[in-house]
Amino acid sequence: MKNKRPLHFESAQVHSGQRRGNTGSVVTPIYQTSTFAFERAEDSGDCFAGKGYVYTRLSNPTIEDLEEAMATLEQGTHALATSTGMSALNTLFFTVLKKGDHVLVQRGMYAPTLHLLERYCSQWGLTIDLVDMCNLDEVKAHLRPNTRLVVIETPSNPMLQIVDLEAVSAVCRAHGAYVAVDNTFCSPYLQQPIRWGVDFVVHSMTKFINGHSDVVAGVVVLREDRWYEAMKKTRSLLGGSMDPHQAFLVRRGLRTLSLRVERAQENALAIARYLDQHPKVEKVWYPGLPSHPQYALAQKQMKGPGAMVTFELKGGYDAAIGLLNSVKLASLAVSLGGVETLIEHPWSMTHRFLSDEEKRSMGITPGVVRYATGIEHEEDLIADLEQALEGL
Ligand SMILES: *Cc1c(COP(=O)(O)O)cnc(C)c1O
Repeated sequence: MKNKRPLHFESAQVHSGQRRGNTGSVVTPIYQTSTFAFERAEDSGDCFAGKGYVYTRLSNPTIEDLEEAMATLEQGTHALATSTGMSALNTLFFTVLKKGDHVLVQRGMYAPTLHLLERYCSQWGLTIDLVDMCNLDEVKAHLRPNTRLVVIETPSNPMLQIVDLEAVSAVCRAHGAYVAVDNTFCSPYLQQPIRWGVDFVVHSMTKFINGHSDVVAGVVVLREDRWYEAMKKTRSLLGGSMDPHQAFLVRRGLRTLSLRVERAQENALAIARYLDQHPKVEKVWYPGLPSHPQYALAQKQMKGPGAMVTFELKGGYDAAIGLLNSVKLASLAVSLGGVETLIEHPWSMTHRFLSDEEKRSMGITPGVVRYATGIEHEEDLIADLEQALEGL
């Protein structure tokens, strides 16, 4: 690239990490190959040392171009693409954590992340504490001399609480603990945690980054170069590498990230305002409403309030189930971040494995509904909710 000034996000999402094949193709070709032939037997040493390609589980040009784009957009030094978001998380944990370490995890963290830590990592002598990351004193009180990693998700799922990344990172850094953020709900367009001092950013690229609900994929982005080789090794040994065709699809989706997020976010704000004044709605949680308890923090830390809206119906469980069965445009499905609107019931779907008590302690009651806006027209989405709410 001739120009030294860093590109704006909108340009970088289109251009970064795009290599022209020797035909001049404008888009990186799909190198759909499992292995790479060496020119001469003497070259294999250089290729294994990273100066060429050996085998797709280790690296592949189509995947590397996606990684370069993600590292640029998250302002990290490197990115490692993985087969799923969960695979990104286990690649991170297996690289950074060792026997005897203590891990602080946000209460209400994405449940499979917590299960991964509890079920597997604990077998190797790790201890885990759950804390409210919105309460800095609670974070400070739980840091121990052996605390190695602090795992955060902001905004949280599904209650959309915001963690102050700058404040938590400063406390953890002073203590010698690393901070990892699951940035899936924001995408790098809305939030770049490395700017606030975070060490590792993880995404389920299944969601906003791919954006079309047709691929599962993940990525870990590193603040520091020094983790790169070790993490690549972990990914390769755990087998969480991506497929080149998957990388191609994610890279294609990524080119329109800012446009999709802007549009979905406009819809989310319109829906949050509509629901906020609706007589059958008890409460709305959306970081773009001034009533959100961390409205100011969201404005500081995020470029916009995002495309997720959570609300509670006055009619409790029956009303929530009735609404979910009556919407026609929104699909009743888990996941988020696609072009189509999805609606789900945390009590009986995404958070069903928590006890009722745990759910209630997080604010999840039987009347809570999570709405992941897509890029449809807001009038159609509101009309869909209107007819469903009328029938309750
Ligand atoms: C979906 C999701 C994951 C897991 O990603 P997969 O791609 O499904 O493996 C992790 N964290 C969050 C916040 C998610 O929404």
